[in-house]
Amino acid sequence: EPVDWPTQDLVSHRVASTPERPAVVDADGDPTWRYRELDDRVDTVAARFAAETGSAGGENERVAALVDTRVEIAPLLFGAMRAGVALVPLNVGLEPATLAAQLARVDPGLLVCERGTERTAREIADCPVVSVDEPRSEGVVPLAIDRAPPDPVALSRTDEQVVLFTSGTTSDPKGVRITVGNLVASATASAFRLGVRPDDRWLVALPTYHMGGLAPFLRGALYGTTVVVQRSFDPNGTAAVMDESDVTGVSLVPTMLARLLDAGWKPPESLRTVLLGGGPADETLVDRCRDAGVPVHPTYGMTETASQIATARPQTAFDHPGTVGQPLVFTEVTVVDDGSPCEPGERGELVVDGPTVTPGYLDDERTAAAFGSHGLHTGDLGYRDEDGRLWIVGRVDDRIVTGGENVVASDVAATIRENGDVTDAVVVGVPDEEWGQRVAALVTGTVSAGAVRDYCEARLAPYEVPKTIRVVDTLPRTASGTVDREAARALVDGSE
Ligand code: ATP
Ligand code: MG
Repeated sequence: EPVDWPTQDLVSHRVASTPERPAVVDADGDPTWRYRELDDRVDTVAARFAAETGSAGGENERVAALVDTRVEIAPLLFGAMRAGVALVPLNVGLEPATLAAQLARVDPGLLVCERGTERTAREIADCPVVSVDEPRSEGVVPLAIDRAPPDPVALSRTDEQVVLFTSGTTSDPKGVRITVGNLVASATASAFRLGVRPDDRWLVALPTYHMGGLAPFLRGALYGTTVVVQRSFDPNGTAAVMDESDVTGVSLVPTMLARLLDAGWKPPESLRTVLLGGGPADETLVDRCRDAGVPVHPTYGMTETASQIATARPQTAFDHPGTVGQPLVFTEVTVVDDGSPCEPGERGELVVDGPTVTPGYLDDERTAAAFGSHGLHTGDLGYRDEDGRLWIVGRVDDRIVTGGENVVASDVAATIRENGDVTDAVVVGVPDEEWGQRVAALVTGTVSAGAVRDYCEARLAPYEVPKTIRVVDTLPRTASGTVDREAARALVDGSE
């Protein structure tokens, strides 16, 4: 029998080695929980989870959580680990009907809610409901239970630990099954790229029901470092927290970073890592980071790989703006076109393999469709340069076929963004009787649709020029900050 690792939940290890270190800090007020305090809370959660799901460590035992970004996610996550069940954080912003459909697929033994989600939880749950806050309605009980916590379950690398739904940029969100091994491999590989110091403090202001918000908790507990949680991002508030809490690292999506810079943000001395991902970080943003002294680490990742696939350190980013750097250790990326690997510089679909890659989705058909030769087909289009750095071009289905011509939507969007009066742009294909698909653009900035058309006509092939252009105040986005293509399509479709 090969030795399997790790053997226990990460907080069990921490409380034995560094009980006095701060584990989780609530940036919005409450006191710090040290690892020994977090350990007590993990016990409380594990006692409830074990009671409610029956056989601790059973196959596919799941607990769902309708809890927004807050410190309580830490005891929920590690309590699930201790009890040997998987945690399924749900997007609190979704419609009850959507959540109900997700819950049906997850089939949890318990649903955890909070004050603000109590009503929805009762409406959608087919299982007992507990609250991390004082419950207000009948049928919901407090999470704490008068029962001894279970002995920490012996974990196996292949145990399902978390199920997370993707952002739903391309279609309805996919439930991704993520194992203990995926999480530990990801946190380990990240340490090699970003470095770790014992007094690191990582700010989470991204939703914890997506990988970008959840991964820092796993890294923190593995490293014995601190996670600072801010319930929601706002440029001034987040800048203040970074200053006051001696934050050394933060995860941001490009729109957040742009808003911080727009507000005149100067990174504090303590800040060593700004992990920038979730969507494309264009050259302009990277240049602005250099000018403002932001230690930016552009990263490419996805839910299916428990976060980072490739990450660039600041010097690489500044020397080669637009790259996401080399793949992390253990992760293998193959660029594939028409089934065969590409030469450097050649564009193709990015295919990922390695210990961070999910064993599959909740839906077997989607799993079968996503895995092929060389590993998980990401649906992302990109290439490697001569030095092995990765560049993300867009999504494979970004290709719009219009009147028989192939248009790469992200190329058109990049051209539009070069216009100084444009702040952002997204290009999508919308169904069209005459063309099959019609190129359409949604643009923000102080610009008119006519000016954007003229600009495109001067720079693009005629078939690439968007036939529909609409200027809006903001682009529709998913909770993780990517542009919501379905919503963008709906917005441009029907306009002139
Ligand atoms: P869905 O899979 O439901 O369509 P999604 O792919 O947006 O949604 P996530 O798993 O949250 O859901 O996001 C991962 C995707 O985000 C990647 O596959 C890629 O398309 C995009 N992405 C992440 N980082 C970058 C980056 N640095 N540059 C460009 N795209 C990125
Ligand atoms: Mg995806």
